[in-house]
Amino acid sequence: MKPRIPYPLLLITAVILDRVAISSTQIDAVQSLRPLFVLLLLTAIVTLIIHYFIKDWHYANFIVLMIPALLLAYRSLSSLIKTQFPQQADVLALALIPIAGVLYALVVSRRLWRSIRNPARVTYYFSLVFGLLLSFQAVRIAKEVYALFVTETFPSGTAISALTDDTRLQDKSRPDIYVIVLDGYARQDVLHKIYNHDNTGFISELETRGFYVASKSHSNYIQTVFTMASFWNYDYLKPWQSAHEYPQYLLQPIQKNRAFHLLDEIGYTSVSFEGVSSFTQIKDADVYLSNFLPFNKFETLLLVDSPLEPLSNMFDLGIPIPTYKTHRLRVRYELDTLKEIPASISGPKIVYAHIVSPHPPFVFDRNGNAIQSQKPYSLWDESTYHGGQAEYWNGYRNQLVFVNTEIIKTIDAILEKSETPPIIVLMGDHGPASTFDWDLEAPRCVWERTSNLFAVLLPGHQTDGTLYASMSPVNTFRVIFNTYFGTELSLLEDRSYLMSWQQPSSIKDITGIRDTLDSCTVSDD
Ligand SMILES: [Zn+2]
Repeated sequence: MKPRIPYPLLLITAVILDRVAISSTQIDAVQSLRPLFVLLLLTAIVTLIIHYFIKDWHYANFIVLMIPALLLAYRSLSSLIKTQFPQQADVLALALIPIAGVLYALVVSRRLWRSIRNPARVTYYFSLVFGLLLSFQAVRIAKEVYALFVTETFPSGTAISALTDDTRLQDKSRPDIYVIVLDGYARQDVLHKIYNHDNTGFISELETRGFYVASKSHSNYIQTVFTMASFWNYDYLKPWQSAHEYPQYLLQPIQKNRAFHLLDEIGYTSVSFEGVSSFTQIKDADVYLSNFLPFNKFETLLLVDSPLEPLSNMFDLGIPIPTYKTHRLRVRYELDTLKEIPASISGPKIVYAHIVSPHPPFVFDRNGNAIQSQKPYSLWDESTYHGGQAEYWNGYRNQLVFVNTEIIKTIDAILEKSETPPIIVLMGDHGPASTFDWDLEAPRCVWERTSNLFAVLLPGHQTDGTLYASMSPVNTFRVIFNTYFGTELSLLEDRSYLMSWQQPSSIKDITGIRDTLDSCTVSDD
């Protein structure tokens, strides 16, 4: 009997569909098509080659099947190693590779295969099991798609309302604009009161260089995606009626934002760095900078706990598998490359670097040395942060000191190499979260989370009242455009809102409680 569909293909498709379902809230399912196609094609080719040599379909399929089977076993073991022996994880995961190789050779050996009396039955059972598994995954995905088509309406717009002002920028002066987001960077008084850290040295360094540092700034939202969607469009966001399509609903205003669009119309080159997530980068920028190979987010997640992970951690393979090493390399790359941009990219430019630091994970000590973490890599913050409060305070302070040193060097290089004085926005997209809890009904210490660093260099306008103490990110481009590009955009009230992935239809105005410290805990070390 000649099996019609090689069953390893069924298993691979089922595994990919499983990953699609798991990551569907964060990653567009379209990203899974390329790896699915490549894996199926590779499997088919390898099966044909093996069959050419051994002339036995049953055996050829079995030999091929053991590759994904062993990779799945490897994945489970690697994940276990990371939680049990975090310090030795790379070495142990690396040691597993030759062991898996030997095991593979044993399992697919002709001696073992010959001991099977009825190979056709083996093929039959594997086809049946993987066929069922695939049907199960297909039904799971179909259910989601069905819910999307039948019970939900598609996003008719985006999270941003239409602008009433017919905005056009005048291009009399076209200074370079740098937007450097230091994710989770807190305001000076929060650092002082909650973190017991004196940040006045850094603030004066900024002021000496002409920055205006807003002493009462608040972020407009408490999470990156909301802040950035609002920031780039200089407007507040509308809530969304359902969880379906919510990520796309928020992502679209970032990727196709007003600020980039208007600046593009007057000849600006847009520059963005590859980010840790889709929300911290603008993929369609004229210049898209990355120090990694162009894997998409789905592919990089697929490679987590594969043999490529420890190899990538030991050697620089350029694969952006989400690990501590990748995280450090990305931060360093952004800081270093920013210094070169004034000279390397000519003409007026809008540059966006979203640096995930001092936000957890805490991967740098004060001097920028790598910290060996005790936990598997994650970006979790707030209540999901893996670790205690004291650990948070300590890790955050150290990473902040490192970021301070590096960012001053970066700013100095930008200032020195720019032909005309540039505009620089240096801000936290929100504050940190050592005591913050964003329970929508009873949020805790929103003061910590909404009090962000907000420093702007508008050459010639440090002290003339253009910038003001309670200014928030939503007004940044309104002020920049009014000051340099002849617009008359009215400033919005600087308010803070709580929005959540879990309840996309709700929005809670927390402006009234954002200066209350009652629910905050304070570090006394
Ligand atoms: Zn953030």
